Amino acid sequence: MRSRLLLACATGLAVLLVSGCAGTGPPDTSPPASPPPSAALPPQATPAPTRTTPPKPRLRALPAKLPAGLVRTTGNAKVALTFDDGPDPAWTPKVLDRLKKAKVTATFCVVGTQVRKHPELVRRIVREGHQLCNHSWNHDLDLARRPIAEIRADLVRTNKEIRRAVPDAEVPFYRQPGGRWTAEVVKVARKLDMRSLHWTVDPQDWAKPTAATIAKRVKRTAKPGAVVLLHDGGGDRAATLAACSRVITALKRDHGIVRLR
Ligand SMILES: [Zn+2]
Repeated sequence: MRSRLLLACATGLAVLLVSGCAGTGPPDTSPPASPPPSAALPPQATPAPTRTTPPKPRLRALPAKLPAGLVRTTGNAKVALTFDDGPDPAWTPKVLDRLKKAKVTATFCVVGTQVRKHPELVRRIVREGHQLCNHSWNHDLDLARRPIAEIRADLVRTNKEIRRAVPDAEVPFYRQPGGRWTAEVVKVARKLDMRSLHWTVDPQDWAKPTAATIAKRVKRTAKPGAVVLLHDGGGDRAATLAACSRVITALKRDHGIVRLR
């Protein structure tokens, strides 16, 4: 009878340990539960130690400096505007309105999952003469560090989604989320006929500075040929939108605005 009770205890413990491993939450750092001394188990009934976290995917290291082959200027004296992380139903239409009013065109670096949700916005972007740029399927900051086949699949999937919205869309650029480039992602993009688009001016609008600060940073750092990074998605873009008119007016006056091609 006593041995049966022990066996039941051991089985119960094993079930508990196994189910604890199946969770996907953060690894449990509390010390492993041990049975009270009164329920000491025979050594052969002790479950083997099991991993509590899945093995980490192997990521290649980020290079110390940006890889070769990035587009960072317009190639002439005029500057270019780029808007990342959309399309977003709240902000992209307003940004498009501002651009239309100022009679300038920009480049929209779109995220695949957003394209799937808002294909009509991609159609409007193209219809109004703007350029498209692939910004990965789900804004994976580590994409450039993953195996080549995974990078390729992500970029292909994103382009397919863009072309589901606009069948004959040209997507001549890829921009790595976070600017976390590797030589490998540049190469994969090139094989898919996309040039890798970086930037020269980053007012860090994603960190939510005021509109005045965004405008000041852009005006101060924009040199001839600059590629300016802004965001029309990925969060509350009220400040970016409010800065838009000032930024566009100043850049048009000082340099002229050109669409990347
Ligand atoms: Zn982004």
